[in-house]
Amino acid sequence: MEIKPEAIRQLKSSGMTLQEIGDLLGITKSEIHLIYHSESIESRRDRLNEYASKHYHEHSKEINKRYVEYKKEYARKHVLMVNGKTTVVNKRPRPNDTCELCSRVVDRLHYHHWDDGNPHLGVWVCSSCHKLCESVESGLHTKYLELKDAIIYDN
Ligand SMILES: [Zn+2]
Repeated sequence: MEIKPEAIRQLKSSGMTLQEIGDLLGITKSEIHLIYHSESIESRRDRLNEYASKHYHEHSKEINKRYVEYKKEYARKHVLMVNGKTTVVNKRPRPNDTCELCSRVVDRLHYHHWDDGNPHLGVWVCSSCHKLCESVESGLHTKYLELKDAIIYDN
């Protein structure tokens, strides 16, 4: 399988640097650079493509696994739903599987943001705490406290 400039362009548009693409495909950054800009240097491109495709075949499963992991990690760090739309932001550093509110260690942390104008500002929380955050944002917790006070006052 030939590594085409288009494939590198796609990886690059997913947020990978040429260095990371090189690491992924097991070839140097300058070789990636050459493939990426290779239309003008065809013979060199053919030689490098041959090398890269051979290498790709040898390690395609590993490359695919690493690419899937890379995409997953990239999404964790940068992809957020804002108003039902997928947005790319720089989230705060993620604590190791530990909810920033209740300190429970969980399989999946959610990034709760409260301001669509500044979606990068958020907290890493478990799903229970995420629901709590949402009810605080909607004012439901205040309504609960008021209701509780009213009931206590009436009795
Ligand atoms: Zn929690």
